[in-house]
Amino acid sequence: MQNRRAILKWAGAAGLMAPMASFSARAAGDAPVPIVQTVSGPLDASKLGVTLTHEHIADAPDVLTRWPKSWSGRAELVSKAVEKLKLVRAAGVGTIVDLTTYDVGRDIRFLEEVSRKSGLNMIACTGQRFLPPQDPHIPMPAGTIAGLTEFFKKEIQQGIDGTAIKAGVIKIGIITNRPTALEEIGLRAAARASKATGVPIRTHTNAALRAGESHAAILEDESVNPARVSLDHSDGSGEMDYFLGLVKRGYCLGMDHVHRGAADAKPSFERRADCIKQLVDAGFAKKVFLSQDAEFGGLLLPEEARNWREKIDPPEGMLFTTQRMVPYLKKIGVSDSDIHTMTVENPRSFFGQVAPR
Ligand SMILES: [Zn+2]
Repeated sequence: MQNRRAILKWAGAAGLMAPMASFSARAAGDAPVPIVQTVSGPLDASKLGVTLTHEHIADAPDVLTRWPKSWSGRAELVSKAVEKLKLVRAAGVGTIVDLTTYDVGRDIRFLEEVSRKSGLNMIACTGQRFLPPQDPHIPMPAGTIAGLTEFFKKEIQQGIDGTAIKAGVIKIGIITNRPTALEEIGLRAAARASKATGVPIRTHTNAALRAGESHAAILEDESVNPARVSLDHSDGSGEMDYFLGLVKRGYCLGMDHVHRGAADAKPSFERRADCIKQLVDAGFAKKVFLSQDAEFGGLLLPEEARNWREKIDPPEGMLFTTQRMVPYLKKIGVSDSDIHTMTVENPRSFFGQVAPR
């Protein structure tokens, strides 16, 4: 049983104290309420609702300079994003997890503003998409495991970019089947920061090359609990033995590129969806997340950028999961209860943090 003083000490260290009525209202000795760090502060994990677990709202500073003709300025970008995000809210989504890291244009103030104005909860990330950053003008905060661990912990415990807004998840991008030396440093740092803070990890995984297996070997070497790791873009594999091997070891799978199968990328949309059903039928609904890895929800792309993401984002944008994926899964026999597990219960337990023992 957790000692209440220890929980409060942990919550204070994790920067979770201010609005933590749920902690203070609980009698000593009760199990702590898992909380999630959102851009608006800590939230009782049971309030997340339907959660899209791997998205990108907008890498705002970058887009404004890249496509200056598309918006008159930041205020217009915000209002257009809010307009689109309200549609996602109206479709029944409660929370969006934005996995845009510092090196690909994360703008934490933008995220907080569009979250507040759209009514959607948002979880921001620490971590790194490309190791090294693709833009040579963006310096890495550190090149060692210890240095990166400290950077990730700082963004989780103190805040991001000089704000008090804290990261609720760690994202690491690994390009091919095996991490490079620098990617391995990033993954080990993510593992250590996760263990120190209780914040979970999501990886960009090249599933077609079965890359999750090499991530798993490193994460196991770091003694990370596999239930705190989601290997995202996993549906790019389409091989049941790959999926079953990972979920049996305890890993979660982000099935968030299913729409790409509809746009001719192999495996097909139908195969990717069928693999989700087979995982559910095999008793692993608790290990599956649904999302669509859309940029701007695929709905906010400017005219000038039509060739950039239009080919890989779904035409429904961030409405793909609710409007197309879920109805299709139901059509092929996935139950409402299993859909609820994948879209509501899994994010609640994955993103919910309790005090480390
Ligand atoms: Zn992504």
